[in-house]
Amino acid sequence: MLSYLIYQLCQNISYMAIANLKYFSQDLRTKCSSLSHDLFGKNIVLSPNCSCGQVETTHHYFFNCNRYNHIRPILFDQISRYSPVSLEVLLKGNSSLSYDDNTSIFSAVFSFIERSKRF
Ligand SMILES: [Zn+2]
Repeated sequence: MLSYLIYQLCQNISYMAIANLKYFSQDLRTKCSSLSHDLFGKNIVLSPNCSCGQVETTHHYFFNCNRYNHIRPILFDQISRYSPVSLEVLLKGNSSLSYDDNTSIFSAVFSFIERSKRF
């Protein structure tokens, strides 16, 4: 269902953008992203730390990193209309919500990711 939601969300985006978003969200869920913590776990980088000095986990990226304090309130405001904000909801949606509400959640998450310019 998640892949279908992402497909629907991205219908107006180029094929490459769709592929990138699909793989990116999957990477974050499976801890295979280019966040430092994930790369450190695979011995690709020397430190799990973010440039802000804290360990750069997926949770840190979405909830704590001071580099994104300027865009985080927009994300949380958009998500909290539908569900309490949690990492689970950001990455997988909320199964008790409608298709349209979950699509809105994923749209807000992808907007945050794009605005962060982290990837
Ligand atoms: Zn950080």
